[in-house]
Amino acid sequence: MAQRRRRSSISRMEDLPPISPPHDIAVMTNLVSQLLKALGESPGRNGLLKTPERVAKALLFMTKGYHEDIERLLNGALFPIEYDEMVIVKDIDFFSMCEHHLLPFFGKCHVGYLPNKKVVGLSKIPRVVDAFARRLQVQERLTTQIAETLKRKLDAHGVAVVMEARHLCMMMRGVEKQNTLAVTSSMLGAFRTQDQTRNEFLKLIRRNAVGEA
Ligand SMILES: [Zn+2]
Repeated sequence: MAQRRRRSSISRMEDLPPISPPHDIAVMTNLVSQLLKALGESPGRNGLLKTPERVAKALLFMTKGYHEDIERLLNGALFPIEYDEMVIVKDIDFFSMCEHHLLPFFGKCHVGYLPNKKVVGLSKIPRVVDAFARRLQVQERLTTQIAETLKRKLDAHGVAVVMEARHLCMMMRGVEKQNTLAVTSSMLGAFRTQDQTRNEFLKLIRRNAVGEA
């Protein structure tokens, strides 16, 4: 049943691994234990006894977006409406993991769209962000996936997504740049073709607080 549902969803289209949590946890626990040994640690010492299983469970949680059914999430939350002004949900916190180092990157995501006879429940937008963020990602692809999915599901006149993130793989290793913010954007439809629309969105996401001009 679960298999059939995934077949029609985005996650199935991206050819993602099947779900088998108990088995995965056992396999991963064993691997983390070996990893600890390779690092020169003793997995048997008191502080580390439960670490492999904790790490396995944490990793499964941080990649649970693979198993989110985004189609179903959005299908139940679309409403017909005549409203055709820009809708913006900004400052959405997100946490993801870079697929090159398996280290976190995290920050804020801003989403805007121009409705075309239907809108989506506002709370669903952060859930779409989460579903794509909680996977192994690169920030550029994450940004595009959110924008393209919303564009397609909402049939919107345009969708804009801007993501600002700090990457621990840059902060803790390599170039060790502590304050670097990586910014990516995906502008589709009217946000790509009309400067005025794009600029209005960019201006609105720069405003700091409710009521502030
Ligand atoms: Zn990285």
